[in-house]
Parts: sequence; structure tokens; C-alpha cells
Amino acid sequence: MRSPNPRTIAEAIEACRDRLRSVSPTPWLDARLLAQYVTGLDASAVIAYGDTSIDTRRRSRLFELAERRARGEPVAYIIGRKSFCGLEMAVDRRALVPRPETEELVLACVDDWAGHAPAIAEIGTGSGAIACALAHLIPQAHITASDISAEALELAAHNVNELGFAEQVTLVQSSLFAQFPDDARFDVVIANLPYVGTDNLAELEAGVRDHEPAQALLGGPDGLDVYRRLVGQLPERVRSGSALYFECAPRSADPLRSLVVATFTSAQTEIKKDAAGLERMVISRSIVSP
Ligand code: GLN
Repeated sequence: MRSPNPRTIAEAIEACRDRLRSVSPTPWLDARLLAQYVTGLDASAVIAYGDTSIDTRRRSRLFELAERRARGEPVAYIIGRKSFCGLEMAVDRRALVPRPETEELVLACVDDWAGHAPAIAEIGTGSGAIACALAHLIPQAHITASDISAEALELAAHNVNELGFAEQVTLVQSSLFAQFPDDARFDVVIANLPYVGTDNLAELEAGVRDHEPAQALLGGPDGLDVYRRLVGQLPERVRSGSALYFECAPRSADPLRSLVVATFTSAQTEIKKDAAGLERMVISRSIVSP
């Protein structure tokens, strides 16, 4: 560590940053988030009060947490929070940490549906991040959000209630659409289903593999098993004029698009890149209900 005995908040952040430099792609952000958590200061205060001294108890706590981060644990699990589309979500090991690329999926849907009152199904909600963000950004929408995991749904329920979306979001424990009422049909189906292929496990970051729930990540040998089952159920679940928003692995974007095109031949189906330039989303509009 650069400063083995930091006296101020800024020096302690700098020491954590040095510790995390070789293990995290975002060492400065991580160090500041951990410092905020330990001091109780917000993002700007932790900078503004950088010259304030940090007491030894908080300093050791901060270094303990930095060691956990150094061993690969996501910062969001350590501090129990993650910001998503401007909302502060509670997160823990029951569900994936919401990711910035998933914010892009939400925004693509919001661009199409803001000002309307769509019936939205969010399949595989995990922490409830997508459902809450859609409720926030499309105030007239109603969202039915499902997950197969009872544990994930408890976390989603906490977020939905805490953020005040209980009237707009209905949670269902269901394997894809299996437990939905027979006649439930939707204008929008949005999903970030497990899409990591077990054939490509080695490509998964160690921190993700060791700390986030495998059930939320793994989608069979090529990563598309869960999406194949979902697309098979869609013809009974979509209304005419509906749209689909799916997050996927870049290597699966083409096969996933083909799957959707084979099921909904006259819809307009496209691949969309994320901010990193990776083919991360398959979006299908103007679905004609069979
Ligand atoms: N984006 C995640 C990752 O690659 C995977 C998310 C998912 O499987 N839905 O770490």
C-alpha cells in the first residue's frame, strides 16, 4: 500500500485504490464506494471531506472490505446496494448485481413505450431492477415480474416495496410463463435470462463465477437453453403490436435473433449493441400475434 498509515479519508481511499489496482477494472470507484459505506458520507461528501481524518476503527473496517473486494467479491454485495437507472436497489447474493448494459436494455424499451400504458412481462427479474426501473420510467405501465427463485423474489419484493412500486409491479414465482394465468398476454416481454454458456465458462470473470448465483447466469451448453424455452412459450403470451427486449451474450445475438425471426416471421427484429460496442440485445417490434 502506498500509504501504510493513512490519516485522512482521501489517503485511505488512495491506499484502497492502490490495493485494488491489479484486481479490479474500477479501483478508484470501488475505493470511493467502500469509503462512502464505511463513513456514511455520500459521493460528493467523501471527496469534499477528503482532508478530514479517518478514525482507526473505520480505517480498519475499510481495509477489511477492500480485502474482500480484492478476493473478487463485487462491491455491490459488500455494500448491499447498487444504483440502477437512477434508483438505489438493495442487492445481495440472492440475485445478480444489476449491470450497466441492462440499463441500456431498459432504456431501449422506455424509448418505445414512454407515454403508453403497456402490460409488461419481465421474465427472470432477480433483484427486481428492470421491473422497478420500468415502473419508474413508464408511470402508466403495469409490470408482471417473475422469477423461478423464491429467494430472488424476496429480494425483488423488498425493492418493489421500498421504492414504492407495489401498485405497478406484480411479482410471481414462475418458471418462465408456466405459473402465469392462462389468459395473460402482454404488450412487452423483457428479459435478462441466464445466458452464459457452460461451454464458455472459462470466459466468465472469476469474481462473477465465485460470487453471483449460477442459476441466474448459466443457460446450458451454448447459453441459449432458457431463451429457447421462453421463445417457445411466447406465441401464447404476446398481443399483436407487442415487442420483445432480450439481453444476451454477444456470441448468442445472431442465433437468438434467428430464433425470434423463425417464431415471428413478420416482426422487425434487430440486434442492438451496448455502449461497449458488443452485440448485447435482441429487440423485436411489431409482433403479429399468431
Ligand atoms: N452479464 C452477465 C455476465 O456476463 C451475465 C448475465 C446473464 O447471464 N444474464 O457476467
